[in-house]
Amino acid sequence: MKSTILSLLTAFLGLAVAAPARADRVLLISTDGLRPDAIDQLGEAGAPAFHRIRREGTYTSNARTDVVYTITLPNHTCMIASVGVTGPQGHQWISNTDPLLGQNLHRNRKAYLPSAFGVAHDHGLKTALYASKSKFSLYDTSYDETRGAPDETGPDNGRDKIDRYLMDEDTGKLIDALIESFRTEPADFTMLHLRDCDSTGHKEGWDLTAGSPYMETAKKVDAMIGRLLDAIQDSPLTKDQTWVIITSDHGGLTLTKGHGEAKESDNYTIPFHVWGPRAAAGKELYAVNAATRRDPGDQNPPYDTAGQPIRNGDAGNLALRLLKLPAIPGSTINAAQDLMVTAAP
Ligand SMILES: [Zn+2]
Repeated sequence: MKSTILSLLTAFLGLAVAAPARADRVLLISTDGLRPDAIDQLGEAGAPAFHRIRREGTYTSNARTDVVYTITLPNHTCMIASVGVTGPQGHQWISNTDPLLGQNLHRNRKAYLPSAFGVAHDHGLKTALYASKSKFSLYDTSYDETRGAPDETGPDNGRDKIDRYLMDEDTGKLIDALIESFRTEPADFTMLHLRDCDSTGHKEGWDLTAGSPYMETAKKVDAMIGRLLDAIQDSPLTKDQTWVIITSDHGGLTLTKGHGEAKESDNYTIPFHVWGPRAAAGKELYAVNAATRRDPGDQNPPYDTAGQPIRNGDAGNLALRLLKLPAIPGSTINAAQDLMVTAAP
């Protein structure tokens, strides 16, 4: 009798061990140079995926870049480190070209720059970066097995904070590889960079006229996002347990075919979309976050202004919150991890 109870108990415990609680995953997508008003103008017909996210998730068309810089690498570094570019706690990376040999985020800053990749990896999660510009090697290099910080959190998961780094200028191939990973071995925290809108903007201008090359590229990016959402729901490894955060590093101008002028609202105004299993469906992000964030109108207020806008720099600490992990050490944007994306906290 005793042995029967014992074996039943063992079987029960075995079951409990075999079915661990499913962890949420996060996919952070940066749509390089995608203006939010392009999504607005395309509407449901031209941008069905973004509008699906707006129905099923929460979003704003009035998020902000960094205050001083509206260029690519500085703003992506804001996303992964949740700090501004300049100032004592800023990441200080102002270059926007392939990093010089031997250069990295920490050496340039003269102090280690912790990131969302590091926090996730140190807690035993798998991380990935899929990038479509060669200069993103900055992150792979800065967080590799020699330059990444020792893991002092729990078991030692090593210094290389980005488990999988893939660079391909062909974003279609990048998406194929990412979707394949959903079916086989999805990372817990993935960042995906899609260069398409920026590349067309620099060539043809950020022209929001219907049918312009820029708007056609925005439609193409929307279709890629749609493929990703479908693929997430098609794999039992990712279905109903993956959060998607989409933001941009900057907008861009029609006339100059550039985005470097940080005082231009068309450069610093960016989208911020969040989709996931418990998202505040159909809600505008500033409405969800009325207690802690303030819609900046057409301004980009400095970091010391009370009532900050939602910024691309919120993304890193938001991703960690959704992974149930603490904030990035030393971070200053969303450091309290108080950007809400669910209907109830
Ligand atoms: Zn860019």
